[in-house]
Amino acid sequence: MPRLIFLGSSNAVPSEEHDNTHMLLSGEQHNVLIDCSSNPVVRLRRAGLNPLSITDLILTHFHPDHVSGLPMFLMDSWLLGRKEPINIYGLDTTVEKARQMMKLYDWQTWPNFFPVHFVSIPLMVKTLVLETNEFRIVASPVAHMIPNIGLRVEFPGLGKVLAYSSDTIPSTAVTELAHRADWLIHEAAGAAVGHTSAEQAGEVAHQAGAKKLYLIHYQTWNFDPSSLVQEAQRHFAGPVQLAMDFEYIDI
Ligand SMILES: [Zn+2]
Repeated sequence: MPRLIFLGSSNAVPSEEHDNTHMLLSGEQHNVLIDCSSNPVVRLRRAGLNPLSITDLILTHFHPDHVSGLPMFLMDSWLLGRKEPINIYGLDTTVEKARQMMKLYDWQTWPNFFPVHFVSIPLMVKTLVLETNEFRIVASPVAHMIPNIGLRVEFPGLGKVLAYSSDTIPSTAVTELAHRADWLIHEAAGAAVGHTSAEQAGEVAHQAGAKKLYLIHYQTWNFDPSSLVQEAQRHFAGPVQLAMDFEYIDI
């Protein structure tokens, strides 16, 4: 059974209990890391997963709290003996910056490095990112400070749908990605530039007809986020939960 595991739930400033937002979509043959914060090797281990089992990595956008773990993840995978290739998906600009970042580390000089395939996703609505026999992932541009994508994951065999907003202001692109989704994972960093409040996330969930809302990417270091649930419930009648590190959704 596929599973979505929250490896981090915080906005850009993490806390002891909440790492920066990133997650794992775990299937039978594919383990897809969604964003690459801090050091995913540590988070994956703590979640009981082999870091070498990651087959694919989707980078939503090139902000440090979503990509700064990439050099450590790649280097540690190499040092742990990885031989299998990995696919890294992102928009052109994201993938290009990821390449540049690795170049700054002179990674081309690291001997016997495993193959890394960068895959550019066109900046289009509902672009296919990855399709396996278990799930189908599509991406649409959302509205953040820099180019960014939200995701819709369909599980055809199970008739289930999961959507993830990534960082964005309230966006019709997310409403469409989350159309009648069983789970919408929406950021709730607050109504600041490029972001969404919990109340607005509730509105998006309502408009999308989503069945359940998870709030993620919320403020943690100096703030008790539990009140965000009630804020989201002002506009959304379904269940609302705070995404918590290492909790998971069984699809
Ligand atoms: Zn961001």
